[in-house]
Amino acid sequence: MFLADFHIHSKFSDGQMAIPEIVDFYGSRGFGAIAITDHLCELNTFIGTAARYLESTLTPAIFPFYIEMMKSEKQRAWDQYKMILITGVELSKNNILNSRSAHILGLGVTDWISADDDVADIARAIRAQGALAIAAHPVSTRKIEKQTYHLWDRREELTPMIDAWEVASGPFLFDEVADSKLPLIANSDLHRPSQIKAWKTVLDCERHEGAILEAIRKQKISFKMYEDDITNYGNNHHRRSTLLYRISPIITGNLGAA
Ligand SMILES: [Zn+2]
Ligand SMILES: [Zn+2]
Repeated sequence: MFLADFHIHSKFSDGQMAIPEIVDFYGSRGFGAIAITDHLCELNTFIGTAARYLESTLTPAIFPFYIEMMKSEKQRAWDQYKMILITGVELSKNNILNSRSAHILGLGVTDWISADDDVADIARAIRAQGALAIAAHPVSTRKIEKQTYHLWDRREELTPMIDAWEVASGPFLFDEVADSKLPLIANSDLHRPSQIKAWKTVLDCERHEGAILEAIRKQKISFKMYEDDITNYGNNHHRRSTLLYRISPIITGNLGAA
């Protein structure tokens, strides 16, 4: 059994840590798999233009460097920590209206995808790469931040195209998602080290990318609240992870299958 976190931001978008720092941060805590998922924003909207200007989004010019960095860190993560590093993106449609905003994680994406298309087309483009399409924070996150309800509003139509829905992205469980029959996943949406205190996904499969993506598709996963009492994030000596609550995995049969 190993812990995994599939929603993490680096300095390539709006995260505080560089990719190698993230690898050391999770590797030293014994995680078995992580995905780095930097924002890839819609570029044809006002907010998208602002994001590009603030360098808080991946762009076609930067994307090859992101992929190269991920490749070399993938090898190091394995050699040093036996941890699988998955290349991901968070396709981000940010509208002034929450009901028109949507964030979709692509786990295993290695080719550029435009976030300007409709969410159904984005999910298809992610899956065409053999990657997983994940609905990020689909309901209220209870944090003061932009909310994204578009995917949830269209969940019936989108269910066949989305591999899993975040039942937590941070320390709060989303009851509506937990009570639904949808396939689930739990992540941190980590932008800074203190956000490690969050729900995580627990896997019991081989440590390679294909097996990990398949375990999510088949919902052979469970969830765990992870607490980490390292106050000085440079010091690894005092750490603990506490099992506070566990949801039984929901086996959805063919729902999440591609
Ligand atoms: Zn997001
Ligand atoms: Zn995010």
